[in-house]
Amino acid sequence: MSFDDVVSFHGHACPGLAIGYRVSDKALREMGGRAEDEELVAVVENNSCAVDAVQVMTGCTFGKGNLIFRDYGKQVYTFIRRPSGDAVRIAVNWVSPDETDEEKEAWRKFSSGERSDDVMRIVHARKARKIKAIMDATDEELFEIKRLRVDPPREARVYPSLRCEFCGEKVMEPRARVREGKVACIPCAEGEA
Ligand SMILES: [Zn+2]
Ligand SMILES: [Zn+2]
Repeated sequence: MSFDDVVSFHGHACPGLAIGYRVSDKALREMGGRAEDEELVAVVENNSCAVDAVQVMTGCTFGKGNLIFRDYGKQVYTFIRRPSGDAVRIAVNWVSPDETDEEKEAWRKFSSGERSDDVMRIVHARKARKIKAIMDATDEELFEIKRLRVDPPREARVYPSLRCEFCGEKVMEPRARVREGKVACIPCAEGEA
């Protein structure tokens, strides 16, 4: 899968997506192939643009349940093979090239809402340069990589549905609550419906 394929899924090219591309490419080479089903699990420690590359390239997706989000704000990605538990932990170690004073100034203006041609030209050029630097970097420049063995997370389960007695909509059983002795979905249990 090319970076262009990943861009068309994500919607735009950006440095975060380029990081995700390199992480996923490395993971596939280390772990041997993408997940058609749930045989590969990704644990991602951020919810940045990079995670879209992980989903589309590795087949570890939110919908299939083999993408696990830990909200740590870290550029760390762990891929786990089922059932063996063989895993690779990829920590992004990359430092972006220094910005010029002109770039810093343009970024400051962009952040405060300015969209003049001059500002946009500098911001776009900076972004393109960053993407290229990420795509051209060696694995050693980008990552700290560890092989490990972990207990693989359980496969996604399918739960029976109950019907909320307040709104009448269906809710999967482990998420159902009780309000006034009746089955309730979380919004109905918590809200003043
Ligand atoms: Zn993006
Ligand atoms: Zn309800």
